[in-house]
Amino acid sequence: MREDLHVYDNVLQLVGNTPLINLNKIIKDFPGKYSAKIEAFNPGHSSKDRIALYIIEEAERKGILKPGDTIIETTSGNTGFSIAMVSCIKGYNCILAVSSKSSKDKIDMLKTMGAKVHVCPANVPADDPRSYYEVAKRLHSEIKGSVYINQYFNELNIDAHFNSTGPEIWKQTEGSITHLVACSGTGGTISGTARFLKSKNPEVKILGIDAFGSVLKKYHETKEFDKDEIYPYRIEGLGKNLIPSATDFEMIDKFMKVSDEDAAHTARELARTEGLFLGYTSGAAMQGLKQYQEDGEFDENSNVVLIFPDHGSRYMSKIYSDDWMNEQCFLDTQKDSKSQSIEI
Ligand code: PMP
Repeated sequence: MREDLHVYDNVLQLVGNTPLINLNKIIKDFPGKYSAKIEAFNPGHSSKDRIALYIIEEAERKGILKPGDTIIETTSGNTGFSIAMVSCIKGYNCILAVSSKSSKDKIDMLKTMGAKVHVCPANVPADDPRSYYEVAKRLHSEIKGSVYINQYFNELNIDAHFNSTGPEIWKQTEGSITHLVACSGTGGTISGTARFLKSKNPEVKILGIDAFGSVLKKYHETKEFDKDEIYPYRIEGLGKNLIPSATDFEMIDKFMKVSDEDAAHTARELARTEGLFLGYTSGAAMQGLKQYQEDGEFDENSNVVLIFPDHGSRYMSKIYSDDWMNEQCFLDTQKDSKSQSIEI
């Protein structure tokens, strides 16, 4: 059992210092050691608590934010939840422009935390006035004294992970990590964590995860923005239809793309095998690790750390719903259903 019985002043004191948990069954007979950083243990149930708290406190330190001011952001849900949580404790208004691809659960949660939510169409170009980027920019220019977090283009997103996720993993592995496997959306998590780990040991390999339908992998390989790579996909928070400056591509050794279907099945497998009830991108990270392993990336000396970004409760109406899986034509065999329900 956990031994920490400390009493905290408020929920923000619980951000970070998430557990690293060994993976046992899902890795079968893969060579080496595998563990996962479970970001769902943050109080807002995702890695985004780290950047929300860090960026807001940096703005306070610089005198940019004072109580009663408004914080604006574009978000697939998690960053919004974290900003809303920090805002209610610190006394800020929170306005969020979110993609229509975000689950209804996530949008309802944001509203519950006191945020004002603008739902914007997912499948329009980033420069379309209806996109969540453009809506956030417009609100920022219209509302006096507002701060736009702009996570995709904010260097502090990288710094947040450089100062927390990176040092934690280094400490938790006692400097023995050989590979980091992490999803890339804004790129803040993988870039900041990688910068710290590589500053300690330049040999640590950084293996990124991208989605089919996203430009990141191709851009990493060619330095060219290829519009033909872009098409709609289902995984929220993974990959991108633009090049975020919060991604330090130099830090990333390789990218692997994973499919919506494989990531969904692997998320379900994590629950069944490891008892870890996690989000869609955690399934994507685990699926990517399997594909890297098939490519011979690891050996018996490997000490591989995965980052699992958020909690499964946010995906009940998606990957953990047999109905949703059926609608996507992802469930076609008996073995895939969550459990065998017996009706009496
Ligand atoms: N997983 C989820 C569920 C996310 O919301 C995000 C952020 N968009 C990521 C992974 C990727 O993290 P980052 O933005 O730091 O690259």
